Parts: sequence; structure tokens; C-alpha cells
Amino acid sequence: MQLNIKSIKREGQLEFDETVRLPRIAREDVDIADVGPVHVKGTATWADPLLMVEGEINTMITYICSRCLTHFDRPLTTSVSVTYTTDDVQADDEIKRAPDDVLDLTSDLEESIFLAVDDKPLCRKDCKGLCPECGGNRNEQTCSCDTRKVDPRLAALKDLLSDDDSE
Ligand SMILES: [Zn+2]
Ligand SMILES: [Zn+2]
Repeated sequence: MQLNIKSIKREGQLEFDETVRLPRIAREDVDIADVGPVHVKGTATWADPLLMVEGEINTMITYICSRCLTHFDRPLTTSVSVTYTTDDVQADDEIKRAPDDVLDLTSDLEESIFLAVDDKPLCRKDCKGLCPECGGNRNEQTCSCDTRKVDPRLAALKDLLSDDDSE
């Protein structure tokens, strides 16, 4: 998403209302299968030498359940708030140096979404996960596996799996 810095400076304040795609999020976050169209609505304000951007972000995240690997959709609402400066001296880690004419907000939007998404998402609070024996989804089927009797060679592996489950 791009903002024209010259028109923000000219108008003093500019409202924006755009829908963009941010494919990098699903590529880089192993818990996320897809990110729907990202709706961004807000204002860009010029207060010489600062350029402040505030907005609300709305999208639909397709998560991969960390227990049963099922894909499920969950809406996400978060905000973006960034300050840029046109003054070289003022620019630091918090306040980025603004480019001369076009401000690309893509990485700011991605960062806001990365911070807001669920960590270890669950399709539902009591997701029963996958059977460590047959791999069946225990939310959908009751298998007859006896998970108490485990080949000692597999016991270490089973411990790892149940650690994951008990979180
Ligand atoms: Zn699940
Ligand atoms: Zn089973």
C-alpha cells in the first residue's frame, strides 16, 4: 500500500481506505495458511517534519490448528501506528526516515499483523488433536488405538507428542 507524500504535505491530512494483499505473512508464518484481502482505513497527517500514519486493519486469517492441523478462518482486527520523519537527524529506530515522494506501508502493515495473529492457534479450545498411533483426527473420529501400550522404542516419540498436547 502506497501513500503519496507530496499530497499529504499539501493537504495536511489525508484519509485512506484501501484493500491490499499481503502474501508474505502466510509464506513466513508456519501457523498461517492464507491471509484474505486486508482492509486498511485511516489517516496520514503531516506535522513538519513528521508524517504520522494511523489506521485500522481488518482481515480474515486462515490458521492451521497447532494440534490437529485443520485449517480454520478467524477474523483479525488490529491497528497500525507509525511515524516517519523527513529530517535525517531525527530518524532513529522508532522514527523512520520518510522517502521523498512515495511511502510504501507494506512492511508496516505486515509487522502489525505479525504481532496480532494467534501464536499456536487452536481450531477450538478443547481440540483433541491427532492420535499419536494412527494419526486420525480425534475431533472427528474415535479410534480404537490403545495409546497406553507403546513400543518402548516409540515411547520417547510419544512423550514428545503428548508434551505438545498438554499445553
Ligand atoms: Zn484442532
Ligand atoms: Zn488412533
